[in-house]
Amino acid sequence: MSDCLFCKIAAGEIPSTKVYEDEEILAFRDIAPKAPVHILLIPKKHLASLAEAGPEDAALLGKMQLLARQLAEQEGVAESGFRVVANSGPNSGQEVAHLHYHLLGGEPLGDIRG
Ligand code: AMP
Repeated sequence: MSDCLFCKIAAGEIPSTKVYEDEEILAFRDIAPKAPVHILLIPKKHLASLAEAGPEDAALLGKMQLLARQLAEQEGVAESGFRVVANSGPNSGQEVAHLHYHLLGGEPLGDIRG
């Protein structure tokens, strides 16, 4: 999608601090980290949010979840604990309309509803 910030990051048109990349997925550090470890995982394919994902995306989403676990290990927070969050839609506070998982860790993360 030509007007999408994360599509531009996926295409390399806007720089990012990459921590993982393959043909389907990119993971990069959040520009305004809310925890010592704050990584965003995105599919390169444009999906506005989790609400747009369908059965055809099951393998991709599963791969992203397992990548979150792998990156948590790589970042040294797998044992201390981490959180994976996907905001979806207005009530969630989603700011960038391209599906992304936040991987957060490195300190106590406090309570969230859920
Ligand atoms: P959300 O509110 O779930 O849509 O999260 C969007 C996230 O994208 C926020 O945590 C922002 O700090 C992050 N963000 C926005 N622009 C960039 C960028 N250019 N590079 C890395 N992270 C970004």
